[in-house]
Amino acid sequence: NIYHSLRPRDALPPPHLPISAADHAFSLLRQSLSDSLHTTTAAFIDSTTARRLSYSDFLRRVGSLSSALQSRLGLGLSKGDTAFVLSPTCLEIPILYFSLLSLGVAFSPANPLSTPAEISRQIQISKPSVAFAAKATAHKLPRTPPPPLLSLATILIDSDYFNSMMTLSDSDLSSASSNPIQSRISQSDTAAILYSSGTTGRVKGVELTHGNMIAGISTWPRRRGREVVLITTPLFHTYGVAMCVKAVAMGETAVLMTSTKRFDLELMLKAVEDYRVTWMPVSPPIVVAMAKAEAVERYDLSSLREMLCGGAPLGKDASERFKARFPHGYGLTESAVSPARMLDAEEAKRHGSVGRLNPHIDVKVIDTVTGMAQSPGRRGELWIRGGGTMKGYVGDEEATASAFDDEGWLKTGDLGYIDRDGFVYIIDRLKELIKYNSYQVPPAELEHQLQSHPEIVDSAVIPYPDEDAGEIPMAFVVRKPGSTLNEAQVAPHKKLRRVSFCSTIPKSAAGKILRRELIEHALSSPSPKL
Ligand code: AMP
Repeated sequence: NIYHSLRPRDALPPPHLPISAADHAFSLLRQSLSDSLHTTTAAFIDSTTARRLSYSDFLRRVGSLSSALQSRLGLGLSKGDTAFVLSPTCLEIPILYFSLLSLGVAFSPANPLSTPAEISRQIQISKPSVAFAAKATAHKLPRTPPPPLLSLATILIDSDYFNSMMTLSDSDLSSASSNPIQSRISQSDTAAILYSSGTTGRVKGVELTHGNMIAGISTWPRRRGREVVLITTPLFHTYGVAMCVKAVAMGETAVLMTSTKRFDLELMLKAVEDYRVTWMPVSPPIVVAMAKAEAVERYDLSSLREMLCGGAPLGKDASERFKARFPHGYGLTESAVSPARMLDAEEAKRHGSVGRLNPHIDVKVIDTVTGMAQSPGRRGELWIRGGGTMKGYVGDEEATASAFDDEGWLKTGDLGYIDRDGFVYIIDRLKELIKYNSYQVPPAELEHQLQSHPEIVDSAVIPYPDEDAGEIPMAFVVRKPGSTLNEAQVAPHKKLRRVSFCSTIPKSAAGKILRRELIEHALSSPSPKL
């Protein structure tokens, strides 16, 4: 009962071949450029400023920045180093990612909306030797980084200095290349460290290798002609990273949503119209907003052939309105190959499914009680194995060991089944994860914050269904006797959208919070939204 993809698979380069994810993407790009595109084709466009970067500019800047990062100011970045990235989406980010990939330096992007405490924790996990931040986010980096780091050099990516590194003169470049320190990158080397809470507890650093990313690129069918993709997902999340790397490998023109404010549907629709966008990866809240908004009628979306929805479950209403229009996909940070995706409108007719298995991934459906691998149609936890699954959680052997079984299967924490035609269905989430607007909110982090409050005895945080955001974090809170704490005071950083006071938190004999019981209770007697 091991399921494999029914789709043809591109041959992957043998794992022993030293090749970076950037080399692989660039070699595919060169084919695209010689097939139908030109180096003058726009590689990236900033949707707010309309600034565009052609493929020749992009490649030149990647080359220049990697030379500068290797040699400049004693930075001397080299294979094995990690670079922390804290910035809203901008044109410099793909240049930075590809430069780091080509040097074998792992990039580790964090959500720029994270709090300084969250950032400090992430830095403690990934131990970067340098940080790249925007002027607007740099103040969140810790002044004194957490031990064992003594200091953390920070480079502003919206500075003249960064610009000068991207635009070295020909003579600087030739003197840099006459003194190459380039070391061979093997596919088992770390390419990126992304943050995820996985199936339990607090945030962890997901270590993805160059081989994982190469496998991720290889699952996308190659298309002829010019595609214009609007990347609506931020570039720190696995979905945004994958879209950015794919865009380069396939020679697409990628329009980046660069507004630093909250997501704005009208700006997105305007970008589709202005840049004649042909396809757009989105997350469920965008679909819900599009299904409701009249603004959709006011823009010319005729260029848009396809949307791909993934990252969180899509509610029934929204999916019914759109079901014949665009495909669905299912992924997780822990795997650079998204386990399942629909390829076309024909597959999108399978209502409720997240698509068929991608190449380079094997899946087992494991009964949560018996541990037996299930046959088609029977539900269980999805376990995955293949070229895309992470190396592990960086510096956390215990979490890594419990994420995998002895044979290298990664436990997704998602409950689902696969039908006889190979379509995958996700029916529930076993892991302790809340997806608010498709972003991860680990309940353990909020519980930890609640419990540090002097008037709170105990707490539990659960996902509560919400039409717009998909899920919102709701807290059950046990107050100290006599406490007058109210709901609004309890919501840290406004992340908790519902709060209910209770006398005890139901727990198993082992002390594990019985979240399912709380979810059922919350649904049967809803408390008001804050
Ligand atoms: P992340 O690591 O932030 O991408 O979150 C991954 C988790 O999001 C998965 O393990 C699922 O629980 C959930 N998820 C992603 N895509 C889907 C989908 N299409 N349907 C249901 N859940 C999804």
